[in-house]
Amino acid sequence: MNILVSACLLGVACRYDGKAKADDAYLKLVEQHNLIPVCPEVYGGLPTPREPAEMRNGRVYARSGMDVTEAFERGARETLKIARMLGCAVAILKDASPSCGKGLIHNGRFDGGYAEGDGVTTQLLESEGIRVVAASAWQDALRFAHVEPPENSDQ
Ligand code: SF4
Repeated sequence: MNILVSACLLGVACRYDGKAKADDAYLKLVEQHNLIPVCPEVYGGLPTPREPAEMRNGRVYARSGMDVTEAFERGARETLKIARMLGCAVAILKDASPSCGKGLIHNGRFDGGYAEGDGVTTQLLESEGIRVVAASAWQDALRFAHVEPPENSDQ
């Protein structure tokens, strides 16, 4: 099975701060599935590192106030293109991101708070029938992919 995964979760240093957010949980998945790393913000033409951005009223703004919605939407479309090309029915995406977040994202005030909602890429993928699983729910993702979670894992 081809599974789309936020590239930063696989150790790619593509986050706004120029770092990765590697999660060893995916090593198990890699044994049985093809994990396809994607970074919608990079695909949208944004540099790394870049200003942090958050969603507010359906738009995405950098901390300086610049509206970067167009880049985020472009990145979402490119990510969808890859998902379709490789037949991905599932995506495991990084929590809280204005691109990849699922269920809970940063609240748009740059104060570390959260609000209910989905990132731009998550919204597009789900509207096209691709199931998005939040990285924090990776055990569910493993079960969905018919892989037993590693022993002694609580999250
Ligand atoms: Fe990670 Fe997604 Fe942000 Fe790229 S856009 S750095 S994949 S959370």
